[in-house]
Amino acid sequence: MTGSSILRRGVKAAKFARRYVSGYFERGRFTPRDVPKLSIETTNICNADCVFCANSKMTRRKEPLSFDAFTKTVDEFAAMGGTDIDFNVTIGDPLLDPKLLERARYVRQYPQFASLGFVTTLQWLHRWNLDEFFDSGITWLSVSITLSGREKYHAFFGVDLYDRTLNNLVTLIRENDKRGRPLGINIGLKPTDEPIEDVVRHADLRLLDTMVDQDLVAEARNTNVYVDDWLGAVTLPAYLKKRPLIPRPFRPCRLLYTGLTVYSSGKVGACACRDFDASSDLILGRVQDQPLEGIWRGDALARLRKQWRTRNAVPDICQSCRHYLY
Ligand code: SF4
Ligand code: SF4
Repeated sequence: MTGSSILRRGVKAAKFARRYVSGYFERGRFTPRDVPKLSIETTNICNADCVFCANSKMTRRKEPLSFDAFTKTVDEFAAMGGTDIDFNVTIGDPLLDPKLLERARYVRQYPQFASLGFVTTLQWLHRWNLDEFFDSGITWLSVSITLSGREKYHAFFGVDLYDRTLNNLVTLIRENDKRGRPLGINIGLKPTDEPIEDVVRHADLRLLDTMVDQDLVAEARNTNVYVDDWLGAVTLPAYLKKRPLIPRPFRPCRLLYTGLTVYSSGKVGACACRDFDASSDLILGRVQDQPLEGIWRGDALARLRKQWRTRNAVPDICQSCRHYLY
């Protein structure tokens, strides 16, 4: 290691230490939000098999969230004064939910929900009528993709759907432009095992770079290779690295104070991050059986936070989670 790289590491470590300490003393750090954010996993079905995902390990039933449970969730969340809602999933692709647009329209009938969107591969956009899609009230999409050809896409996503997905993305961008860009489209580039110069030179990346405001070349150069292995359930390829395991004694994860997730079965979790089978200590109840507000303000969640904070009783799933937010 050279002197300058040792120095760089030292500076990075010092910055982290400062953030780590000051974060602990931040005002309201251990106070739950009055009204949480809410993610609704409208379906846990996904046909991809990404190298860093526990989709293939998931044993819970693959199903869309029942529409009754969905409307109950949205109505109760609106009554709580909720404003921050999305269709992000733990596992799944909302584009495979047959009632996606119906659900989006249902959410957007409440003026307080000004934005709505989700992360998707876009592999299934062609199934939808685009006029209906744009009219549904969805305001943003974050598209996970690689843009360096079919082979690398297949290696990452586990499915041979590059051409179709690329076509869907190009179509979406053009249709969005035609309509005056009502939809915020973010392209989330995933890492591949090839030299970065091959990625940034690729004709598809260059083409897309001319179509969006994002600087895709810069994004490709900054693609994050640090991920989580879902508590050891996923064996990562060599080019992906595990995020560091940040110390967490007596310091509950920020996500336990921020929001709730409703899984496709109706189970409600304190964090959607790693619980691919929706079976961990973070499951608080079922939306079919309890009011959402009661779950947010209830004993189960308060106990999780308190036991971690005062007795260092870290829930099993949080012990080795590399998405822990300090
Ligand atoms: S990361 Fe998303 S797209 Fe990939 S397999 Fe998992 S759920 Fe599907
Ligand atoms: S440590 Fe991980 S699983 Fe636990 S609440 Fe935080 S992000 Fe979720």
